[in-house]
Amino acid sequence: SESNTSEEEEKDSGPLAGVNVMNVIVVAAECAPWVKTGGLGDVVGALPKALARRGHRVMVVVPRYGNYSEAQEMGVRKYYKIDGQDFEVNFYHAYIDGVDFVFIDSPFYRHLENDIYRGQGQDILKRMVLLCKVAVEVPWNVPCGGVCYGDGNLVFIANDWHTALLPVYLKAYYRDNGLMQFTRSVLVIHNIAHQGRSPVENFRITGLPEHYLDLFKFYDPIGGEHCNIFAAGLKAADRVVTVSHGYAWELKTVEGGWGLHDIINNSHWRFHGIVNGIDTVEWNPRLDVHLQSDGYTNYSPETLETGKAQCKAALQQEMGLSVRPDVPVLAFIGRLDYQKGPDLIAEAIPWLVSQDVQLMLLGTGRQDLEELLRRLEGQHRDKIRSWVGFSVKMAHRLTAGADVLIMPSRFEPCGLNQLYAMVYGTIPVVHAVGGLRDTVVPYDPFNNSGLGWTFDRAETNKLINALGHCLNTYRNYKQSWKELQMRCMSQDLSWDVAAQKYEEVLVAAKYQW
Ligand code: ADP
Repeated sequence: SESNTSEEEEKDSGPLAGVNVMNVIVVAAECAPWVKTGGLGDVVGALPKALARRGHRVMVVVPRYGNYSEAQEMGVRKYYKIDGQDFEVNFYHAYIDGVDFVFIDSPFYRHLENDIYRGQGQDILKRMVLLCKVAVEVPWNVPCGGVCYGDGNLVFIANDWHTALLPVYLKAYYRDNGLMQFTRSVLVIHNIAHQGRSPVENFRITGLPEHYLDLFKFYDPIGGEHCNIFAAGLKAADRVVTVSHGYAWELKTVEGGWGLHDIINNSHWRFHGIVNGIDTVEWNPRLDVHLQSDGYTNYSPETLETGKAQCKAALQQEMGLSVRPDVPVLAFIGRLDYQKGPDLIAEAIPWLVSQDVQLMLLGTGRQDLEELLRRLEGQHRDKIRSWVGFSVKMAHRLTAGADVLIMPSRFEPCGLNQLYAMVYGTIPVVHAVGGLRDTVVPYDPFNNSGLGWTFDRAETNKLINALGHCLNTYRNYKQSWKELQMRCMSQDLSWDVAAQKYEEVLVAAKYQW
C-alpha cells in the first residue's frame, strides 16, 4: 500500500523535480554497461536514470567504442577539425529507462573497447578534445525523439579530466559570445589522480584562443610547468562535485589534492560532496542471481539469520574451509594495488592466524601482490583462501557469506564494496578515509548505534585494534551484532537519494550564480 500512495502522489503533483525540471546532458568517457573500467562507468550508467525518474529530460553522451546493438544511427553527420586534422562524426541513439543515450561514432574511437585510455599524451588528448567539442554542440545538433534539447534550462554534467574541457568550451565558444548565457556546467571529480597533464605546447590541440592558455598552464613540483586539463575545467565549471564528503575534504589538502588543492580551495561554495548510490537490483540479497545455486540462498532482513548462515556454509564449502557457523569469516575484495592496502592485511596475518577466524581474499592487480596472496594461502591452508582473479560471482558470494569486510584503503574517493557489504548484513571494518569515512559510521556500544568499525590511520596496528573490537562484539554480544546488521541492511543506499542531491546542485547552479 505504501507504493500505491507514492504513485498517486506522483500522478497528482507531476514530476518529483516540480518546477525545476531541467534538460541535463551528462558527458563522460565511459558508461556502464557498454564501457566500464571502474566507478566512473557505474555512476554514468545509473545517475542519469535516477535523474530521469525525478522528471528531468536527460541525455548521456559517450564515445562509441564498439558496436552497441541497442543504438540506432541517427543520420546526423558533423565535421570537426583538431590540430589540422579533419574528423567526421556520426551519432547513434538509444532511449532506455527514460534516458537518451547518444554514442559518438568516429574511427578515432572504434576498436578501443578493451583499452579506452590507450596511448600517451596527444592521442588520448585528441580523443577527449573531440568528445568535448562534439558534446558542447549536441543540444543543437542531435534531435532526440525528433526534438533538440536546445539551451532552455540546460545543464551539462562533465566527469573527470576526460571531459573537463567541456566547461571551457561552453565558455569560450558560447558564453564569451553572448550565447547560452543561462546554460550551466557541473564538473564531477571521481579521481583526482589523473589530470590530463601534458607539455604546455599541447594547449594548441584544444583549439582554444590564445588568451585561454593561462587557464591551462600549471606549475607544480612534480610536473614542472605543464598543460593541465583538469585544472582548467575546475576553474571554468559553475559547480564542482565529488563522490563523497570525506574525499571533498581531502581534495583540499596538499596530500589529497595531487597538486590541485589550491584550485579546489578557491572554489568554496561552488564545491559539493555527494556519495554515490548503488545498483539495488544487482546488489540486493533478495534478488542476487549469484546466490541461486551451489547451496547459496537469497535472503532479507526477515530471513537474515537462516539465509546468511546458509550462504556462509556454502561459501566455506566452496572455498574448502571447515564448515563452522561460529567461526567469523573475514573478507577482502578489491584491486591489488597500493591504494587498497592489501599489504596492511598481509602484515596483520601473524595476529589474524592467532585468532579463530577464516580469511578470504579476492583480487587481481599488481603481480607481487597476487604472489603475496597465494603465499598467504600456502602458509595457512586451514584459515586462509586467496582467489586471484576477477570474478563478479565470487564478489557477490563473498559479500553474502562473510561476516566482516575489511577495507584498509589508503585513499578511497567513494568506495562501493563497503556499501554492498552493508546491504548484505556484512559488517565493514575500514580505514576512515574519503567515502569510507562518510558511509561507515563507527559502532557505539553505549548507544547501540553505528554501522561498523573504523581506524584513523592506514597502519597495521590500527587495523588489528579495530578488528579486535569487531571480533569481540561478534563473539560475545550476539544481540548487538544482529542489531548492527539490521541497521546496515535497512539503509537506503539507492541512486534515488544521490540523484535528489545532484538535483539540488543543478538547481543552485541555475539560480545562484
Ligand atoms: P575502484 O573503482 O577504486 O576499483 P570501487 O570500490 O569503487 O573501487 O569499485 C570496485 C568494484 O569492482 C566493485 O564493484 C568490486 O566488487 C569490483 N571488484 C574489484 N575487484 C574485483 C575482483 N577481483 N573480482 C570481482 N569484482 C571485483
